[in-house]
Amino acid sequence: MTLIGIDLGTTNSLVSVWKNGRVEIIKNSLGHIMTPSVVSLEEGDGILVGEIAKQRRISHPNHTAFEFKRSMGTRKEYVLAHRRYYSEDLSAFLLKKLIEDTQDALDTEITQAVISVPAYFDDNQREATKRAARIAGIEVKRLVNEPSAAIIYHQWKTQNTGREGNYLVIDFGGGTLDVSVVDCFANIIEIISISGDNKLGGKDFDRYIAEDFCKRFDLKFPKLDKLTKENLLWVAENVKRNLSREDRVIMRATIENKEYEAEYTADELLKVTAGLLLKMQAVINEALKGARIELEQIVDIVLVGGTCKMPLIQKYLSALFHRDVVADAECEQLVALGVGVLTGIIGRDEHVSDIVMTDVCPFSLGVGTYHSKVDSELSMSVIIPKNSILPISKSGIYYGLEKFQEQIKFGIFQGEELRAKDNLYLGSLFVDVTPNENGDTAAQVTFCYDINGILQVYAQDLNGDNRAEMVVVSKNFQLSDQEIEQRKIDIEKEQRFEKNKEENRHILAWGHRLYAQANPEYKDYIAGIVNDFAYYVEQNAVAMVQRKKKGVIEQLLALEKVVNRDYFENEDVITELLDED
Ligand code: ADP
Ligand code: MG
Repeated sequence: MTLIGIDLGTTNSLVSVWKNGRVEIIKNSLGHIMTPSVVSLEEGDGILVGEIAKQRRISHPNHTAFEFKRSMGTRKEYVLAHRRYYSEDLSAFLLKKLIEDTQDALDTEITQAVISVPAYFDDNQREATKRAARIAGIEVKRLVNEPSAAIIYHQWKTQNTGREGNYLVIDFGGGTLDVSVVDCFANIIEIISISGDNKLGGKDFDRYIAEDFCKRFDLKFPKLDKLTKENLLWVAENVKRNLSREDRVIMRATIENKEYEAEYTADELLKVTAGLLLKMQAVINEALKGARIELEQIVDIVLVGGTCKMPLIQKYLSALFHRDVVADAECEQLVALGVGVLTGIIGRDEHVSDIVMTDVCPFSLGVGTYHSKVDSELSMSVIIPKNSILPISKSGIYYGLEKFQEQIKFGIFQGEELRAKDNLYLGSLFVDVTPNENGDTAAQVTFCYDINGILQVYAQDLNGDNRAEMVVVSKNFQLSDQEIEQRKIDIEKEQRFEKNKEENRHILAWGHRLYAQANPEYKDYIAGIVNDFAYYVEQNAVAMVQRKKKGVIEQLLALEKVVNRDYFENEDVITELLDED
């Protein structure tokens, strides 16, 4: 049975296979290594996928869907002519086409695959990806984070020459940016932090160019009709790609029956897209902070994805890191190549079976707790912190609040916010506890989170034999319309509830933000400060609030410096690059 690897991209998808001790990229029916992730509905209800569908983005925009990976795991509907699809349905069409082409190329039946997903995909998005595969008729042997796959390939390729230490992987594709720090030691590949923005990609460069082009002629891009916009984006992408090879490019487009023409140089591209580069820098900063390493500790910077082909990106990163940062010719294929090597590892192929890989959890998982009886709101108590290495199993001990309590309820949450209700609610687990008159009922809660993103939760009564367990399944991850309406009502109610003065609310919001951004070792400390202050604000204890305020502000200011460390504090790369010539 042949196991294949699939890089299911936002813009392009690739298939790889492990054969005779090496990895191979499979060409599609047109002989191309990349299949555009585009689906189009044909007259007569046929489904077209890939290159042909991409052409129809212009000719049949109302029949064609693209970038649907951005909405994976949501209920967003794509309307193709008279039919409605979710992202996972469209992904299933794409997977089907990839599998059919691979079956033809290899002349064998394909029933299993390893599929890569962005590191920032949450459980819901991962489940949706698996559902898409199931709809397409294949079993997912494993999901792997895209940056993990890229580094697997990098390590495999440079097996004996690759240096040990921390690698920074920057995967800049068409729709997402993923940055990770990966520690490589002998055959152990360990991801130590990840950060990302799934709304930042090559497409945004196209849009910025198209908008700038319109601005030059006093036209408003958002006001143009859909077809003109699509066409302009198409032209802008070509301008961007050509600027990867040439110093100046003429952009020509017809808008409302008039011909327009403008010249773009590398410097102009830099000015127009500076905002996107700064966003990229912020994501890189986050990843470094999460890894707690110094810039000198990075042995190499690995560029992945089509957008990294832009000389602009390579120059910007070189200036930022004060070293040469260059993209490999294969940068668009690195993820697929890595997934291919992984299929070899999973198949226990002798050539690669000695590579060990670990992944990290992209968000914190925990339970809602009351710090004391006077707390009016559930706080998040983190059991598995963000960036923990997977698979992981961790426990926490929690106490009941009442005498003779017979049961403890644990709400399970995912996210970085201090207030439990601001995080994603995953479900509740009830465990019976042995009641006693001192009120010291207690239960140990254990979270087991595996490499496929499946969470199992166990609770054990510490004074008896009671036990409860649950597996968090995907349907709990979605809010129903009714729940969303309820949340809207709750939020409005909160806004009307004008109890505290503006400044106190500001201090609390500041604390909540720091909590969300902080590394795990600071979280409890911040929670303590915020909950304490919140208690007095809540009680309207005016004198106490005044007494505490100054100290709280000082503590938060000090924490701000630690939590929001900026690795590139004095770097103004854009000015530097523009001054260069
Ligand atoms: P994804 O991972 O989102 O599927 P890819 O890694 O295939 O995406 O990257 C697609 C993006 O790369 C597109 O936005 C495309 O315009 C861009 N791209 C591809 N080649 C070049 C190039 N030579 N110069 C600039 N951008 C490029
Ligand atoms: Mg990609």
